[in-house]
Amino acid sequence: MATQSAAGAALIETLTARLGATSVLTEAGAIEPYLVETRGLYRGSALAVVRPRDREEVAFVVSECARAGIPIVPQGGNTGLVGGGVPFGGVVLSLARLDRVREIDGSNATITVEAGCILRSVQDAADAAGYLFPLSLASEGSCRIGGNLATNAGGTAVLRYGNMRELTLGLEVVLADGRVWNGLKGLRKDNTGYDLRDLFIGSEGTLGVITAAVLKLFPKPQARVTAFVATASPHQALRLFERLREGAGDQLTAFEYMPDFGLEIVLKHKPGAVRPLTGRHASYALIELSSPQKDADLQGRLETILGAAMEDGLVDDAVLGASEAQSLALWSLRESLSEVQRLEGGSIKHDVAVPVSRVAEFIEVATKACEADMPGVRVCAFGHFGDGNIHFNLSQPVHMDKQAFLAEWGRFNHMVHDIVHAMNGSISAEHGIGLIKRDELSLYKDPVALDLMRTLKQTLDPHNILNPGKVVAIGDHSPASF
Ligand code: FAD
Repeated sequence: MATQSAAGAALIETLTARLGATSVLTEAGAIEPYLVETRGLYRGSALAVVRPRDREEVAFVVSECARAGIPIVPQGGNTGLVGGGVPFGGVVLSLARLDRVREIDGSNATITVEAGCILRSVQDAADAAGYLFPLSLASEGSCRIGGNLATNAGGTAVLRYGNMRELTLGLEVVLADGRVWNGLKGLRKDNTGYDLRDLFIGSEGTLGVITAAVLKLFPKPQARVTAFVATASPHQALRLFERLREGAGDQLTAFEYMPDFGLEIVLKHKPGAVRPLTGRHASYALIELSSPQKDADLQGRLETILGAAMEDGLVDDAVLGASEAQSLALWSLRESLSEVQRLEGGSIKHDVAVPVSRVAEFIEVATKACEADMPGVRVCAFGHFGDGNIHFNLSQPVHMDKQAFLAEWGRFNHMVHDIVHAMNGSISAEHGIGLIKRDELSLYKDPVALDLMRTLKQTLDPHNILNPGKVVAIGDHSPASF
């Protein structure tokens, strides 16, 4: 436990009296998992981890922290990749125990869930009721809905269904003073003033604590086909994507991109991974078509589009997942990429977006710039190509010292973000800003937008107790000062 001020000790006593000792963790071993970021980039400290069971207890914790002037860091599954959930003093507010599905309304095609539900359990609940909840991330077995909302999570199905913002109709939020905003409406139309829902989605715990949400459901796909396709360059991949969008329309559910280096490290490190095509190729696309109609001839359609693309030189080779097991194996090649990159030494990451029309150009220009800057650096540009969202990651040169490589993080960030900015892109496509990109944001975000963001933060959280120091810095409340 961190050294407690008198205010901290009194707060813990008050919270323990109301919530019970098992809901207020202070012992070093018990709070340790809440202090560390997924990739080990940050390690924080906290007075306590508080685990309320319902909205009323969340409101109580927030109002007591506000009264004591002690900061709160909301946490879901702690799988975030930008250091947003790391505490630097104060209290970690874990939403994990708010894990109920409150309602499924089939006629309205909505599911109302609490913030602590694990994403996969929401997918499963929707599936059991005969629907699809489409948000899909490699971390879906441990990330939680509140975290997905707070980061406006994206993932592999955004191309067809949109990101978390587009999947959400209503929210319930505990505000910085402990009041509860009940915005749990399942409305598709509601023009009664400012859109408060969209304000809290993507706010990374800095404007309010999300306790529940109404989410959209969709018809379950009854037919699905997956293909793994080799292309000679990102430009060929872009032209193929355009063909698929034109030929398959709404049925195009995913278009994920990975380079040769990415596939090779998956094959090297992932037990059971099998090379899907003969020989090596410059780059690959994982394509999925799906339809709620059982008799939709997706395979026929995909074969026709790919056949024509092959004749026109856009596709070098392709394989279709002939069974569910084969499709899953192809998906696993793509989904293992983040995890195996760690086994290749240090990596410097960028989660960026550019207009889809410029995604190939971005990969080419940024790759050349990084390779020219550091010969031997291994570019692993992969991801949600069809959304214009590339995880432009750099693996260290083989014989370079890992720490020496990681010391170049900021410099590479500037280089890549300058290219993104020049293409009218975004320095954070889906992971958020958190701590890791906070200072970078001030270089690239429109100054008027930044000013509006600070105004909103100061209005909704005037005492700066909600996840201070994350997303935008207010006053001298940098994380280091807690
Ligand atoms: P946490 O990490 O606990 O928190 C994230 C942020 O949200 C923090 O700032 C926290 O303070 C805030 N927060 C959490 N809960 C609440 C709440 N109830 N109210 C207010 N604020 C809250 N992300 C993608 O978008 N797309 C991907 O494809 C993707 N793939 C990933 C793959 C792997 C292997 C890993 C490890 C991560 C991946 N991520 C991806 C990142 C991460 O999983 C997402 O950001 C996820 O949405 C975070 O959810 P969480 O519950 O873990 O949130």
